[in-house]
Amino acid sequence: MSATTDLQARFDAVLMPNYGTPPVAIARGEGCRVYDADGKAYLDLIAGIAVSALGHGHPALVAAVADQAAAVAHTSNLFLHEREVELAERLVGLLGSEGDGDVRVFFANSGTEANEAALKLVKRAADEGRPRIVAADNGFHGRTLGALSLTGKAAIRDPFGPYGTDVVFVPYGDADALRKAVDATCAAVFVEPVQGEAGVVPAPEGYLAEVRRACDEAGAAFVLDEIQSGIGRTGRWFAHQAHGVTPDVLTLAKGLGGGLPIGACVGFGRYATAFAKGDHGSTFGGNPVACAAALAVLDTVENENLLASAAELGTLLEREAAAIDHPLLAGVRGSGLWRALVLSAPASAAVQASAAAHGFLVNALAPDAVRIAPPLTISRDEVLEFTAALPAILEEAR
Ligand SMILES: *Cc1c(COP(=O)(O)O)cnc(C)c1O
Repeated sequence: MSATTDLQARFDAVLMPNYGTPPVAIARGEGCRVYDADGKAYLDLIAGIAVSALGHGHPALVAAVADQAAAVAHTSNLFLHEREVELAERLVGLLGSEGDGDVRVFFANSGTEANEAALKLVKRAADEGRPRIVAADNGFHGRTLGALSLTGKAAIRDPFGPYGTDVVFVPYGDADALRKAVDATCAAVFVEPVQGEAGVVPAPEGYLAEVRRACDEAGAAFVLDEIQSGIGRTGRWFAHQAHGVTPDVLTLAKGLGGGLPIGACVGFGRYATAFAKGDHGSTFGGNPVACAAALAVLDTVENENLLASAAELGTLLEREAAAIDHPLLAGVRGSGLWRALVLSAPASAAVQASAAAHGFLVNALAPDAVRIAPPLTISRDEVLEFTAALPAILEEAR
């Protein structure tokens, strides 16, 4: 029995079966490389679902976490601490605010919690007679009951209803359908700039501007879920910056903490101050260690020029992959270091397994889509190492 199969058997005995049994047991990582329980090396091209933005064991993150854990690991929100204030200041600055109160942050511990906060925030801010939320088919906003009620995938939503929130789903990218749904009964629209879990599906050109306009005309809040797209993934700090729009509420998580659990709900304008004292809270939210990790992520993205690198190496990955002439590879979708290899057949599970056998971690996102979301610290050589192996990976999966 290998160390991996031994761990899998122990996992199966005591963990709930909601994930199935993961095929690889990661023991440690260094840079963009991880090693499994049996010592096999993999190039990590999924980064724990677009989370490990600095790869593994980045000295800046390690030092920030160790120093903060030694200083004070937890305060609760009965007390304030500097890291939380500093992180909020940095985020509002990246969003174009001077930090004078027009943009404000609530910290949570995950993506779904950031969206729960956003949902409560827009309900709090809405006038009487606006019970409805509009969201997109195939959208993904999280697994807790509020965020799940907004999630446009019936297979994961419907078994847990009915829900307390009246949600109307519209086809993603269809501006006419959106305009019809967003009326005087609508409190908010929840949408992703690129639908991550649906297969890294970008919004059509101009769609986010249409969402902005429809919300303005109807007096509804525009909530943009950048939990997967934010913090450099697309080659900008936030994906919406490529579309010339500003949402009313922005949610962040995944890449923000570089592997430490943290989420953020950012309110703009009247949404910055819609929560009154006592309206919301979290014991762990804004945890000092998680905030210190997020500050290390933001510093390192700046110091190592990772936005430019994500844009450039993402383009390289796309160009090299698109140049591969293989019947199983139909195309490449996405932007920056956030891509889907689009397959001509429902073979993503076979591609994921074949990639792992060749020493690459990728993610079978949909039957015909394989997600690539490496650490933002990935090098040019590492991108080329993958694209050089891709024809053999595809051939083996066929
Ligand atoms: C991952 C994700 C979430 C949920 O985040 P969790 O941390 O898993 O709760 C919500 N929205 C989007 C767009 C995501 O990609």
